Amino acid sequence: MNLLQRDRMNTPTTIALASDTETRPTPSMREAIARAEVGDEQKGEDPTVNRLLERVCQLLGKPAALFLPTGTMCNLVAIKAHTQPGDVMIADRMSHVLRAETGAPGLISGVMTEAIDGHSPFGCFTAEQLQTAIDQITMMPYNYAAKASLVCLEQTQNFGGGAIWPLASWQAVCATARKAGASVHVDGARLMNAVVASGIEARVWAAGADSLWIDFTKGLGAPMGAVLAGDQAFIDKARRIKHVVGGAMRQAGIAAAACLHALDHHVDRLAQDHDHARELAQGLSGIGGIRLVYDQPQTNIVFFEFEDPSRDSKAFVAACAAQGLKLSGIGRRMRAVTHLDVSAAQIARALEIIRSLA
Ligand SMILES: *Cc1c(COP(=O)(O)O)cnc(C)c1O
Repeated sequence: MNLLQRDRMNTPTTIALASDTETRPTPSMREAIARAEVGDEQKGEDPTVNRLLERVCQLLGKPAALFLPTGTMCNLVAIKAHTQPGDVMIADRMSHVLRAETGAPGLISGVMTEAIDGHSPFGCFTAEQLQTAIDQITMMPYNYAAKASLVCLEQTQNFGGGAIWPLASWQAVCATARKAGASVHVDGARLMNAVVASGIEARVWAAGADSLWIDFTKGLGAPMGAVLAGDQAFIDKARRIKHVVGGAMRQAGIAAAACLHALDHHVDRLAQDHDHARELAQGLSGIGGIRLVYDQPQTNIVFFEFEDPSRDSKAFVAACAAQGLKLSGIGRRMRAVTHLDVSAAQIARALEIIRSLA
């Protein structure tokens, strides 16, 4: 296949706002994949995977890391490593781990879940709310109470419209968990969006966490792969669980090369996605009958809905798709997510389509 054909493959005519997972590997990412040195990942012998793990350890300020095929598997493995069946895992009510992972914490780890309604901003709870939840879980004497052993945080908050957890409250939440003897696990599917938008380094967000991961298949634009990091004892445990769930791979350097390429070329440009999300939100707020669900987006996710609750969002999403605009419908809301395969011109065109159909 020549470069021109590959370029064409990367400029689809649809406006792919349904998710930032719709990114396709760029021609230069494909070249990095083709050039990748490989070995047996399962045995720790893939040089490209090992280089990726070193890079992520530096980025996150953690001593050890593990390459996994998906972010979902990072959450699954980490929760299993941090808990015993019957323990309580605390998370925001609208977190991905509670709402979009098929009940895996119950199925695989046998944990009970305690949901907190975070509103500061939406999807982000406070240290006081966490303390209240811990006090309720542990209010009974020792031989009655369940064990609150894990607190899961999400940065940015997907169903909170890509909100960034404020640093002071993030640090207070981590300290509160630690004081209660609970581990802190961070779902950092879009941590790098938070880093770019806030200007606060990844290692600062990571400091209070016992484990955290970043996803390469969202705004970073790789076809697969996520890296989970923590201390050596945690990663040793996680490696065994990864094997249990079939996540141990072979010549995974093919995938890791794309992730390294993404770290080199696709981090700073996330700012452009955030600009596009703001432009989209501004445009949407001027369309009659539609309102934004949250304030102006902090990162790359925009939720909107019809003012008239009887209007069918599914039919609207389908009508947009027929015009070449892919959105996702979540309940009665529409979600648009910007990424490297969405241009400013496409944002303008998306607004025209939405205006004409709304
Ligand atoms: C996408 C996503 C995940 C799951 O990651 P995959 O790589 O798609 O398995 C987990 N948490 C959040 C917040 C996400 O957006």
